[in-house]
Amino acid sequence: MSVDLTSSYLMTIDGLPTDSSRHIDVINPATEEVIARVPDSSREQLDLAVSAARRAFPGWSQTPLTARQALVSSISEKLTEHQEAFAQLLTREQGKTLEYARWEVGGSAVWLAEFSTMAPSETIIEDTPEHLVKIRRVPVGVAGAIVPWNFPLLMAVWKLAPALIAGNTVVLKPSPFTPLTALKLGELISQILPPGVVNVVSGGDELGPWISAHPDIDKIAFTGSTETGRKVMESGSRNLKRMTLELGGNDAAIVLPDVDIDETAQKLFWGAFSNSGQFCVAIKRLYIHESIYDELSQAIVKYARTVKIGNGADKDSHLGPIQNAAQFGRLKNLLADIYNSGQKVLLGGTVPEAKGYFFPITIVDNPPEDSRIVAEEQFGPILPLLMYKTVDEAVERANASTHGLGGSVWSKDIVLAEAVASRLQVGKVWVNEIHVLTPYTPFGGHKQSGLGVENGSDGLHEYTNAQTISIRR
Ligand code: NAD
Repeated sequence: MSVDLTSSYLMTIDGLPTDSSRHIDVINPATEEVIARVPDSSREQLDLAVSAARRAFPGWSQTPLTARQALVSSISEKLTEHQEAFAQLLTREQGKTLEYARWEVGGSAVWLAEFSTMAPSETIIEDTPEHLVKIRRVPVGVAGAIVPWNFPLLMAVWKLAPALIAGNTVVLKPSPFTPLTALKLGELISQILPPGVVNVVSGGDELGPWISAHPDIDKIAFTGSTETGRKVMESGSRNLKRMTLELGGNDAAIVLPDVDIDETAQKLFWGAFSNSGQFCVAIKRLYIHESIYDELSQAIVKYARTVKIGNGADKDSHLGPIQNAAQFGRLKNLLADIYNSGQKVLLGGTVPEAKGYFFPITIVDNPPEDSRIVAEEQFGPILPLLMYKTVDEAVERANASTHGLGGSVWSKDIVLAEAVASRLQVGKVWVNEIHVLTPYTPFGGHKQSGLGVENGSDGLHEYTNAQTISIRR
């Protein structure tokens, strides 16, 4: 059966399409038009979703792994069948360009397919004629998955795929700003999985706190801001929920003096501005050695001038709008601070009056280290370029953050670059590349960028409890 992605955005509770008596408007950020109305789940509806997941848990967790893997693989295939329709819907709700939306939908299908080949580990610790000791990985139970608005589909899949392979059932909540693709993913999954295994609920500001405090949810997988992550952790403590928290970042890139200027300028540009800078591991502070600061800054600005911002649905747009009015307002406030504190802007800096949350690519020239644009996570298309003298100084400044999500080092000298990279206090660090992510490599923040990881066998095991079986023969 195919899924119509153009209308009827309903929750999936216990396998059934479910509306609510209240609704939330969904806005296309490129036009500011209301493009859909989605259910605003009541507390009772959330309880129904959680109890459906609880009822489905024994059956799903006892389903043989190979059967669970085959079903997750079917979700991947079905998503691929609908790839173009999902991409168009994603552009309409999130704002990103169609090309980038296709990448996100395609990536989500790849993640499901790759996870469908993975399995929780079983390790033999001791095997003698007298004694057998092994460690199994058993599912946690009902997982609550809470997702942000920057990669609404991919972040949902990063949670669903490992949760299902490990044998858990799920209640998924998208961001109120971007619920459409997740609701349609729920509809698509309801054609494949038994009722109650995956439930998708949409709602406003109350729904996330209800989920993270729910006494019958055993684990929370959360992606969002550090501020919200703290609240989730606090409310999850009541029943000692397992937690994976993927939070904010303030990633530094360190550019050593020997790089190829033009080639690196382009890579750095996209490292900072992909998805209009609304990327947890975007370059948010760019440290450039003083000997190449002017040349590289000019090359980045020159390249940035060739990049067109527009409606993501238009073929010639390279970057779309900011996703929502609140984030748009936050960025305007940051920009005002840049001007009010007398910082120099090399490019951009004027927000157009037209409809749509379009924010210009803005490049700031060597602002002070304690300025807001350096100290805070901007999560948008404003990049501070920062001049450094010595590698030790650059590393120290890069590490002087409460965040520790990602980072990158750029140099022709791979040995030196790796040595610098290994000094960064972050969970993911790239050398001469950026945003290379795979289902097999753990992804997660150090310090206040998170707790635990997603992806890889470590990420899969976050949906399990270890169980030791010790047998005297
Ligand atoms: P957010 O924290 O505002 O919201 C994230 C999700 O949490 C949304 O679904 C929201 O409805 C829900 N929520 C809000 N308040 C809640 C509460 N009290 N309890 C439970 N849930 C609640 O984040 P956002 O603005 O949607 O996303 C942007 C942030 O996400 C940035 O800081 C970015 O760096 C971060 N992010 C991190 C990663 C990562 O993997 N580390 C990936 C993407 C985005």
